[in-house]
Amino acid sequence: MVYISQLASVPVTASALNTSRSQAIFGAAQTLMPGGVSSPVRAFRSVDGQPIVFDRVKGPYAWDVDGNRYIDYVGSWGPAICGHAHPEVIAALNEALENGTSFGAPCELENQLAEMVIAAVPSVEMVRFVNSGTEACMAVLRLMRAFTGRDKVIKFEGCYHGHADMFLVKAGSGVATLGLPDSPGVPRSTTANTLTAPYNDLEAVKELFAENPDAISGVILEPVVGNAGFITPEPGFLEGLRELTKENGALLVFDEVMTGFRISYGGAQAKYGVTPDLTTMGKVIGGGLPVGAYGGRSDIMGMVAPAGPMYQAGTLSGNPLAMTAGIKTLELLSQEGAYGKLETTTTRLISGILEIAKEAGWPITGSSISGMFGFYLCNGPVRNFEEAKSADTSRFGKLHRAMLERGVYLAPSAFEAGFTSLAHSETDIDATLQAFRESVASLS
Ligand SMILES: *Cc1c(COP(=O)(O)O)cnc(C)c1O
Repeated sequence: MVYISQLASVPVTASALNTSRSQAIFGAAQTLMPGGVSSPVRAFRSVDGQPIVFDRVKGPYAWDVDGNRYIDYVGSWGPAICGHAHPEVIAALNEALENGTSFGAPCELENQLAEMVIAAVPSVEMVRFVNSGTEACMAVLRLMRAFTGRDKVIKFEGCYHGHADMFLVKAGSGVATLGLPDSPGVPRSTTANTLTAPYNDLEAVKELFAENPDAISGVILEPVVGNAGFITPEPGFLEGLRELTKENGALLVFDEVMTGFRISYGGAQAKYGVTPDLTTMGKVIGGGLPVGAYGGRSDIMGMVAPAGPMYQAGTLSGNPLAMTAGIKTLELLSQEGAYGKLETTTTRLISGILEIAKEAGWPITGSSISGMFGFYLCNGPVRNFEEAKSADTSRFGKLHRAMLERGVYLAPSAFEAGFTSLAHSETDIDATLQAFRESVASLS
């Protein structure tokens, strides 16, 4: 009910988009599913808007149920890096489908994807497949504790590692914009073992290690943050964490669920030349099907059942369709020039956005790496979540709506990274910048 009154406050402009079918479907959905969605951020609450119900996606575009087309910068929150429904991925899936959708037994496709991941990601010597990023992070935390015999973990404010109890402390956009710093239902006793520090703050991490001698299993972080907007590590930060964890007998874990195969083929760890002990992955490695993975040093991975005593399992894990979509997606990404193209496309987009907003006198700061970008409507630099919070979220909400009306689908939150794909052309970027110019003018 609260939400209905929020809807009424959405300004209707002259160019109003017809979203009547979206509204009808979402209206019904709210009676069927909590908040009308299967994952909170999709409900558009943090942009004070009404969600668009998708009908189909292809290349850089999404079409809604009313027939409107959008240039899509969400890309299913990361997986669609080759463009939605890439013909080669679809063809491979069609072929795999004939052999059945789930085996619950070993399948050779798992070896193929595992070999590709191990070859690409510097820290990964062995890998376990799961079904989501949440599962991967949940399992890696158990592994950190099993291997070190210690219970505590350090995470950073604004970093998201899925929705497992232990990680729901200062967990970034999805949680923060709902005004839930900690979710009810998470026992204090559980999060008592979760220590937090501001991102890019090595001193704070040093202090935590000093205050908790021989008690910290490791440090987990997004090596480039995408769940509090887009924040890059300052020079020396990742290197410093590598040293600190080593000195203290703790593990360093990169959560590359978002950055893996996106920042570069080998993820952020390949780009920055810092090798963690363990890595979690998801999103891109599933090519649009549900996949997560965790991997790392083989002496640590040897703890995982049935090789070792740490239990972790999954009925649908490593299923042939998900493996097929992942393999085909990584094949496409390993082609010469893929990341150069992503870099060129994204740079064109973000520099255009910054220039247009600055010309209009808007405070803005932003950047990009490869196929990932972000901007905040505030003066920079933004080095951590606290600084990100000074962004003008109300203006972002209006901007988001203005862009939708002009056929551009941005992430429905001021604190989410944006994604481009190999399918976004120069023409798409220029059309996006034209929409941005008009939107900024309409709100200035
Ligand atoms: C998306 C994400 C997760 C959670 O993955 P799901 O597949 O949504 O469970 C974990 N960590 C990071 C960094 C993510 O971006």
